[in-house]
Amino acid sequence: MTGDKSRGVSRRALLIGGAAAAVGAVALAQDELSRVWWRLPGVDKPRKAGELDHAGAEWIAASPANWRRADRPADYVIDRVVVHVVQGSYPVALKVFRDPGHGAAAHYVVRKDGHVAQMIRELDVAFHAGSRPYNERSIGIEHEGFVDRPGSFTDAMYAASARLTAGICARYGIPVDRKHIVGHVEVPGTDHTDPGPHWDWDRYLALVRKAAPAR
Ligand SMILES: [Zn+2]
Repeated sequence: MTGDKSRGVSRRALLIGGAAAAVGAVALAQDELSRVWWRLPGVDKPRKAGELDHAGAEWIAASPANWRRADRPADYVIDRVVVHVVQGSYPVALKVFRDPGHGAAAHYVVRKDGHVAQMIRELDVAFHAGSRPYNERSIGIEHEGFVDRPGSFTDAMYAASARLTAGICARYGIPVDRKHIVGHVEVPGTDHTDPGPHWDWDRYLALVRKAAPAR
């Protein structure tokens, strides 16, 4: 990884030079320049092991077999949050998402007591929705519990998940509504039913709006 990284840096430097030369005398603002060169193929944002997108989450890496490296939102627009229910416990979710044979994992897992694990970076594509276009456009959040047990969804879980979703919506400019914050059941072509009839969408959206970070 170290070798790749140093090679990446020199390649990046060359590409910046190339992009700047291409626009000639036009001076690009620093942020415009960075947007241009992040879009070039083969260029990735620098990553640090254990880096989090959601402050307060615990980093527990999913198996790399259960997600795909990407560079969102530069390569894919993120405009959906997909709400899931594990049909099992928090430890079971962590275990299967770390299992390379599972073939699926979500970015986040929320525990009954409100503890949040981040398992995949938001810039990467997690295999959670069973649909390639939906995986590419969304962030997936799993919740400990079962769709047919209303008691699975605690106050602490709703509050923590809403804070998480509020942060995601703010980061990518996603509107806080039911068109953009959806259940797995609403993903086109899915046969999954989560989060199920006991998930209180009105309550959840109200909490997400309340948790929206001040701009
Ligand atoms: Zn699901």
